[in-house]
Amino acid sequence: MEQILDAILSGSATRADYSAISVPEAYTGVVVLAEEAEMFAGMATADKNPAKSLHLRDVPTPQVGPGEALVAVMASSINYNTVWSAIFEPLPTFGFLARYARAVPAAAQHDKPFHVLGSDLAGVVLRTGEGVHRFQPGDQVVAHCLSVELEAPEGHDDTMLDPGQRIWGYETNYGGLAQLALVKANQLMPKPAHLNWEESAASGLVNSTVYRQLVSGNGATMKQGDVVLVWGAAGGLGSYATQSVLNGGAIPVCVVSSAEKAELVRSMGAELVIDRQEHGYKFFSEDGALDRREMRRFGAHIRDLTGGDDPDIVLEHPGRETFGASVYVAKRGGTVVTCASTSGYDHHYDNRDLWMSVKRIVGTHFANYREAWLANRLVEKGMIHPTLSAVYPLSGAGRAAAEVHGNHHSGKVGVLALAPQAGLGVTDPEMRARLLPEINRFNAGGV
Ligand code: NAP
Repeated sequence: MEQILDAILSGSATRADYSAISVPEAYTGVVVLAEEAEMFAGMATADKNPAKSLHLRDVPTPQVGPGEALVAVMASSINYNTVWSAIFEPLPTFGFLARYARAVPAAAQHDKPFHVLGSDLAGVVLRTGEGVHRFQPGDQVVAHCLSVELEAPEGHDDTMLDPGQRIWGYETNYGGLAQLALVKANQLMPKPAHLNWEESAASGLVNSTVYRQLVSGNGATMKQGDVVLVWGAAGGLGSYATQSVLNGGAIPVCVVSSAEKAELVRSMGAELVIDRQEHGYKFFSEDGALDRREMRRFGAHIRDLTGGDDPDIVLEHPGRETFGASVYVAKRGGTVVTCASTSGYDHHYDNRDLWMSVKRIVGTHFANYREAWLANRLVEKGMIHPTLSAVYPLSGAGRAAAEVHGNHHSGKVGVLALAPQAGLGVTDPEMRARLLPEINRFNAGGV
């Protein structure tokens, strides 16, 4: 591993140098273990501690098959899917790995009693498999997390519709929270030259998801002037959604749960902010029914802020606790676009709120190849910025995931893999110097 790191840190190693480095037979990664999948049985979700189930382990280096690449990972980040994997909810992820191995014989090596997690990375290509041309050893890259086989015709227009669609590092093994990672080569994208390793690794999953959810025609097709209600606006998805709404010429109404988070989204440029904690919004009454009075109070609050407008778009992901209100407050003809259910999958809404006001509910999930590429291009061009609030070493990934599970974080939480310290990897210092005030404004509270 030392040779690999020396080559990367030297900044002058050639493609031939990288090809000459021998790939270690094993590497260190952040794993959950099949033998521990029942460790939290019977516990409340909030009490399941990712720091107990995530372990640093040496794992055998996987074979690089046709169309694949092995990447030396300098940095990765925590996504909420790391939390789901670590608390074994809604299911332990080992079933996904077994299914992958059954469906695709070449993927048999993914079905192991360990699961190396992580759906983001920034690093350097070390090896490529047969048939890979665009990216080569030595290229600095980030990876998006869409893994598809591309054999079924259903996915040829929109790769998210491929029946073999999987999220890398969640539904496949050998993810990014590790010294090395195995990806399909078509997950690779150029690393933004003005960002350091950990900043580069922060955006992929959430930024691509938000791009499909808000900007793409597969989501809400946001346009200039739209009012967009952003739940969890200082969180992973939300901090990128707030940026997308602002730089797309639309108007975010940001929902957060503390004065610090309100300050953070204001510093990003949002003017209309609701602190849900301060105002005590709770959309279910004691008997478990939707509380229409409370939803009306929330809708009136939004109108107060916007000067009378209801949201054209609601960016949904908290799920059960907010979904009824999201459908209620959306404008007549508006769109609720949902990609998750953090507080529960069993959503309740009053269908009259939907059909009588001709609203739409749109489901989206991650992003297709094209959307992920376009989302990364915005980061490369300095139009969307990483929102890191903290960076942990690989050995601290469990603590980092626990912070996210406990909703104690803002924006994204980074993890250093091979990078010996934060702040390395910038290859366009002029661009960085030009954008530094912006970068600092978005990095959530400094790192
Ligand atoms: P995150 O960084 O934890 O941010 C989520 C935010 O949601 C929090 O900051 C919190 O903000 C807010 N929130 C949490 N519980 C809430 C509740 N009960 N009511 C209102 N707001 C609540 O997580 P993330 O990365 O944004 O991910 C959010 C969800 O989306 C997760 O379930 C994740 O698995 C899912 N996701 C799905 C996809 C996909 O492709 N389908 C992609 C990315 C993420 P405040 O406390 O400040 O309000």
